[in-house]
Amino acid sequence: MDRLAAVAERIAGRSGRLEKIELASAYLRALDDEDLRRALHFLSGKPFGPRDPRRLAVGQVSLREAVIAASGWDAETVRLSIREVGDVGEAIGLLMWGRTEERALSLAEAESLYAELARRRRAADKEELLRECFLRYRPLTLKYFVKVITGDLRIGLQEKMLEEAAAAACGVTAEAMRQAADRAGDLAEAALAARRGQLEQISVCLFHPADFMLARPIASAREVPDPENWLVEDKYDGIRAQAHVAGGKVVLFSRGLADVTAAFPDLEAALERLPGSLVLDGEIVAWREGRVLPFGALQQRLARRAVPLFLPLEAPAAYVAYDLLLRDDRELMERPIEERRAELERLLAGCRPPLLLAPQREAFSVEDLERLFQEARARGNEGLVLKRRGSRYEAGRRGGAWLKWKRPLATLDVVITAAEQGHGKRAPLLSDYTFAVRSGDRFVNVGKAYSGLTDEEIRELTQRLRALAVGRAGPVLIVRPEIVLEVAFDGVQKSSRHESGYALRFPRIVRWRRDKRPEDADDLDRVRQIYETQIPSRA
Ligand code: AMP
Repeated sequence: MDRLAAVAERIAGRSGRLEKIELASAYLRALDDEDLRRALHFLSGKPFGPRDPRRLAVGQVSLREAVIAASGWDAETVRLSIREVGDVGEAIGLLMWGRTEERALSLAEAESLYAELARRRRAADKEELLRECFLRYRPLTLKYFVKVITGDLRIGLQEKMLEEAAAAACGVTAEAMRQAADRAGDLAEAALAARRGQLEQISVCLFHPADFMLARPIASAREVPDPENWLVEDKYDGIRAQAHVAGGKVVLFSRGLADVTAAFPDLEAALERLPGSLVLDGEIVAWREGRVLPFGALQQRLARRAVPLFLPLEAPAAYVAYDLLLRDDRELMERPIEERRAELERLLAGCRPPLLLAPQREAFSVEDLERLFQEARARGNEGLVLKRRGSRYEAGRRGGAWLKWKRPLATLDVVITAAEQGHGKRAPLLSDYTFAVRSGDRFVNVGKAYSGLTDEEIRELTQRLRALAVGRAGPVLIVRPEIVLEVAFDGVQKSSRHESGYALRFPRIVRWRRDKRPEDADDLDRVRQIYETQIPSRA
């Protein structure tokens, strides 16, 4: 972990993409297999592999308590330092400076410490372990040890760059590594296979769930500049399910990659009849007389361990297939969507409920998209999913080749409190905004958003925000809360990251409310109210 921290620090200090990748790959190349696996997880900000169900459940409050206990600094100093520095890991490294035993920490030991953190249930017990760690290891190591806990190293080494580094370290092309990582659902697994020269053998395996491709949320059709480049499907409100079928056996895996087959004997019977071996992606929906029913009608299926015979009649379900990942040992994830779709249509030609094929439509203008959205809503569906023509199936990714557009849970008027530069063509502009709601006469942050505005608006906002700047915390420009945005989101969750105690899920900007003043923004009570009334999210 000491070496990883030193390398991460050097990577953070370089601005060139290639330099960063080179530093990472030189480091990775020298590691043995087990350490390579650990380092790839840690460098992507994860204590365990993406398929590992263990969660650390360590919030900012626990980190703060532990560093107060370990360092002897008072609560206020600790709180202010974290706020000033803008990153808990970095602040903890600084606060522990000169106060630790400076013992070495290996990657294996760090991994067991994360395992122990995940195992301990009570916050006080987790804090005790963290306190011991903070006193024991080197400050720079602690900085990165904590960044893995908070989930983001912030060294400017994006997922794609880490894949390139791993590819260079293992002597394969970046493209081959990326594809294998997608199929395996874990870059570390792909890297180890590459070392053994077995990259090609990683494929979608029957009866082992592959990661699902995810969709990026949009708030309106305006965000799609090229409607003609997208295929359009209804967004079904059900349970995402991967169906693995071969030799009369059927397994339905849900989004959490759990086996939910037992709850759907009717779907199992229908899928069983499909020829050959295959892996389908689709949605289980509540269904009666040709119509989708609200999701609630499916709850009673999931609630029971064994499904009584009458239940499929009382709460009928259907499986709406929308993708095909494997057909008779031919892996299709890398094939373009049109080809996967053509095979899927052939496979399901003439199928009847409870097995359905999701209709696919075309759009040529924003107006077309808006019409299709209204039609989807009228059919009882949530909205639309847009799939980019020519795209492959990107397992486990929310890469933007699929877009989801649904009516938001609600919208809020919020105020920008901080801004950061974006990436790529938006790099010189302030395009990532932290935003807040009112709480008494203060503003407390509830989220961050970076999509939804036009380039023109972002340029104008950049100028306005620079004029409103009151300070800086690393790359973040702190601004006077003046600019009001309307944001849409999918839900509200509790969060220890924000002082407000809440964070919006998938916030995206609907519009810049030039007509509103900060005092017109929504307040924390409204957020609390939405939190309490929302239906639990299944995504
Ligand atoms: P959300 O549940 O809001 O995160 O939206 C993403 C989810 O939309 C996916 O995980 C699927 O469960 C669901 N979905 C519904 N219809 C489709 C579709 N036609 N194509 C892809 N995903 C869909």
